[in-house]
Amino acid sequence: MRMRLEHLEKGFDGVPVLRGIDFDDDVTTLAVIGPSGGGKSTLLRIVGGLIAPTGGTVEVDGERVDYDERTLPSYRSQLGFVFQASGLFHHLSALENVALPLSVVHGVPEDQARERAADLLARFGLAAEEAKRPTQLSGGQQQRVAIARAVAASPKMLLLDEPTSALDPEYTNDVLDLIRDLKETGTRFIVVTHEMGFARRACDKVAFLHGGRLLEYGESARLFDHPATPELQRFLGKLL
Ligand code: ADP
Ligand code: MG
Repeated sequence: MRMRLEHLEKGFDGVPVLRGIDFDDDVTTLAVIGPSGGGKSTLLRIVGGLIAPTGGTVEVDGERVDYDERTLPSYRSQLGFVFQASGLFHHLSALENVALPLSVVHGVPEDQARERAADLLARFGLAAEEAKRPTQLSGGQQQRVAIARAVAASPKMLLLDEPTSALDPEYTNDVLDLIRDLKETGTRFIVVTHEMGFARRACDKVAFLHGGRLLEYGESARLFDHPATPELQRFLGKLL
């Protein structure tokens, strides 16, 4: 997915949060890192069409996102979202959580939607959990169901905002491994994460956001091995 950001700005009540982000690249797997409050979630939400920028433009595969409520739903439906809290429907089973959006949002016939949901849950190691409701699942299992739901309709891009930060440490790797497996099967994603080992291993490129600016961007090995700015050096704990 080609993503082009031109002088992207966002302020809340006049307070600038994104201060002019320029970006133009083919996104396959991208980690967005940086200190909290730097604007990572805001950037992801703008790219996902969940909130509008206050300045600048977003272009995806050559088409400008116009942030008009009439066209945003169809833009968003091409994407998959995973947030810190799974956001699953509590009254539905794991299977229904994955199948329902497929039939309601994407018009897949119900039996096919259930079949696809069952296949995905099995692939994610959740075959035995199909009939359970979210409260009967561990945090890690809930997050894997949320990822299954997000990829079920084969989105052109998956957007994940700190998908493991609400999890107990013992579940973190299950979820990170799953995201890494998605990469192997060709799913593209942008992930906001504080898991630096994961960012390095699972993401081709890394964007370092600091104080509302994109201070560094490039191959993940390059950024982690040779951070160019004092801000990234400090963030990675490498400043002498
Ligand atoms: P990060 O994800 O990097 O921690 P965020 O994008 O969540 O950063 O937030 C960046 C800044 O924007 C923070 O100072 C935050 O308080 C502010 N902010 C985010 N969302 C809102 C909002 N809806 N209203 C007001 N301020 C917000
Ligand atoms: Mg955030």
